[in-house]
Amino acid sequence: MHAEVIVIGLGAAGSYAAWKLAEAGAGVIGLEADDLVHTRGAYSGESRLFRAAYHEGAEYVPLLLESREEWLRLQQAGRRRILHETGVLSIGSVDAPQMARVRRSLKHAGVTHEVLSSDALRRRYPQHSLITDEIGVLDLMGGVLRPEAAVSEIQRRATLEGADLRGNQRVGGLTEERGHVRVDLEGGETLTAHRAIVSAGVHTPTLLPHLAPHLAIRPIGLTWFCPEAPEDFTPDRFPAFIRDLRDTHIFGAPALDGALVKAGYDARFGTIGRPADLAAELTREQRRGLAADVHRLLAGLPPHVARESMHMDIYTADKRPVLGPVSERVVVGTGYSGHGFKLTPAFGNALAAFATGRKQRHDLSPFSPRRFGS
Ligand SMILES: Cc1cc2nc3c(=O)[nH]c(=O)nc-3n(C[C@H](O)[C@H](O)[C@H](O)COP(=O)(O)OP(=O)(O)OC[C@H]3O[C@@H](n4cnc5c(N)ncnc54)[C@H](O)[C@@H]3O)c2cc1C
Repeated sequence: MHAEVIVIGLGAAGSYAAWKLAEAGAGVIGLEADDLVHTRGAYSGESRLFRAAYHEGAEYVPLLLESREEWLRLQQAGRRRILHETGVLSIGSVDAPQMARVRRSLKHAGVTHEVLSSDALRRRYPQHSLITDEIGVLDLMGGVLRPEAAVSEIQRRATLEGADLRGNQRVGGLTEERGHVRVDLEGGETLTAHRAIVSAGVHTPTLLPHLAPHLAIRPIGLTWFCPEAPEDFTPDRFPAFIRDLRDTHIFGAPALDGALVKAGYDARFGTIGRPADLAAELTREQRRGLAADVHRLLAGLPPHVARESMHMDIYTADKRPVLGPVSERVVVGTGYSGHGFKLTPAFGNALAAFATGRKQRHDLSPFSPRRFGS
């Protein structure tokens, strides 16, 4: 069977690319190793932060603005809640370089925001127990994305546009041949396409081994706590947050289900060699340490983890994504380094444009796979 484009891996960006390709009239087959929506993707786990306060670099700003607009459009056109516009509160010491970078990036991008002194922060958000001279910066364009709903909605739209999305079809390998790329499924079937997009998350190094030296898999444990006063942690009273102390970096989201508040560490659990090495749960020591840290910073959350799940994402050394062609017929989108979900629309559009040779909307050269020299 032949397609114009085959998308390998239907996480958020892969699904988005399939949708945009189908919308533009291309014949697309999307292949997903797991069920079409599942719990083992780098997108899984109830929520992802969207922030416009992006100290990671000015090159992300146009991609963030495009993505936010498209998330809201996707939400309006469908029946699913995709973005809770709670704002995102960055908290850190008044003289922390991180806070200066956050403020600079908001100013640079023209994002509506508020700077809260320690006193104002204490008054407005007493849920955060301040330890030092911490201040807050509230990014009013930020919020909380619902990843499973988003992936479902993107796939629904892709299918409506004619994309052929297939679950439980693991790709074993791909080979560029004269005039096409051959995609071999583990079940024995072979498909061909004019171009292929590899969007296989932590499994990308298996399909594109030459990228393996530039990619590392990091486990990220998600944890939820059961607040004593749930009414203090609802989305209208408790924005998503990122908090940086010298030795502790935590992030979290309000109680989206009215009961459990997400709070935990950013990737802090080292790296693993293969996806199969992911531990099923945190160790007792990791869980205790994390719960104690969360309770120290948010006294209304008891020091017991009420829910937990383990995930992983694939990182580059500079934490920039890897986006673009790796050969004449193969395009890759990977290395989103723990911060790629919010940019799904921009990345999906970019992958679709690479696969059809259309002009890119933004300068994506900082993300090119060519920076590795391969
Ligand atoms: C716990 C956690 C918290 C995060 N928090 C945030 C956040 O707050 N904000 C933010 O913006 N980003 C966040 N991120 C990052 C973001 O979620 C990821 O960068 C992004 O979802 C990665 O998408 P992906 O498409 O590369 O991978 P995935 O979502 O894993 O998708 C890849 C898909 O490919 C499939 N696949 C793999 N191999 C094959 C194969 N051989 N054949 C067919 N299919 C295959 C997989 O089954 C999977 O469905 C977080 C990540 C994690 C893990």
